[in-house]
Amino acid sequence: MNTAFNADLHCHSTVSDGLLAPADVVRRAHANGVTLLALTDHDELGGLAEARAEAEGLGMGFVNGVEISVSWRDQSVHIVGLGFDADNAALQAGLAQVRGGRDARAQRMSDELAKIGIRGVYEGALRYVGNPALVSRSHIARYLVEIGIARDLANVFDHYLVRGKPGFVEHEWASLEEALGWIHGAGGVAVIAHPGRTRLDKAGLEALFVRFKALGGEAIEVVSGSQCGADALSYARVARQYGFLASRASDFHGPGESAVDVGRAEILPPDLTPVWVRLV
Ligand code: AMP
Ligand code: MN
Ligand code: MN
Ligand code: MN
Repeated sequence: MNTAFNADLHCHSTVSDGLLAPADVVRRAHANGVTLLALTDHDELGGLAEARAEAEGLGMGFVNGVEISVSWRDQSVHIVGLGFDADNAALQAGLAQVRGGRDARAQRMSDELAKIGIRGVYEGALRYVGNPALVSRSHIARYLVEIGIARDLANVFDHYLVRGKPGFVEHEWASLEEALGWIHGAGGVAVIAHPGRTRLDKAGLEALFVRFKALGGEAIEVVSGSQCGADALSYARVARQYGFLASRASDFHGPGESAVDVGRAEILPPDLTPVWVRLV
């Protein structure tokens, strides 16, 4: 691999649950040596214009990105779209629909937490929200850390915000078919995000790969800051087996919070075809 080439195709800004504004994410990526960046806010395209303008000013490559929340077999999985036309009306309408349920979901989570004596969570979480259309479990988690409920985000999720825990509420996201339809309809490439982080069992994950492939899904995150290093070996095998392109992702949300900084994820196994062959 050309070590001067540094692609990071998954990160977040304050337009979803990141801690930095889009232009600040881009500046940080550039300072960290990134040469091709995708900003992939959850269910939102609102940061792309600002990020692109900043990247162009710095002479850094930039591709449009989004991370779509999908329901798959009673679990949520995340599908990243890359290199699409951000003006595509069907994609925009689809994402608006996915975002639509988030506020009521957050209020219900807050109501559930109130039942165990943790009050004011919705209002508290809103103080962390940069985009009123995009309140997420991350914002709730930051507030719960602030009030001393748990020592860090991972602990809040494990004890309060995942299925079976007191603050969890079921939610219906997009279907896999919808997400791929929107991405492909807008001329983009679809990527399974951090497969090692899903709570699917082996059979569920394999079924996801098969269905994703059948729908024309192109790529998988072999390297992600949101899965452990050893997962890269497993998902490199999956990429070879299914003929998926490979993506490299920090899933950076913010300094001091994310384990992997933007542009600092491990490199891809050299035999895999990187997804950026479709993007540059
Ligand atoms: P939501 O889209 O509202 O379900 O929130 C999902 C977001 O929560 C993810 O994009 C991550 O940023 C964050 N998240 C999920 N699980 C964890 C975890 N175990 N530790 C820290 N953050 C997490
Ligand atoms: Mn997130
Ligand atoms: Mn994700
Ligand atoms: Mn992400």
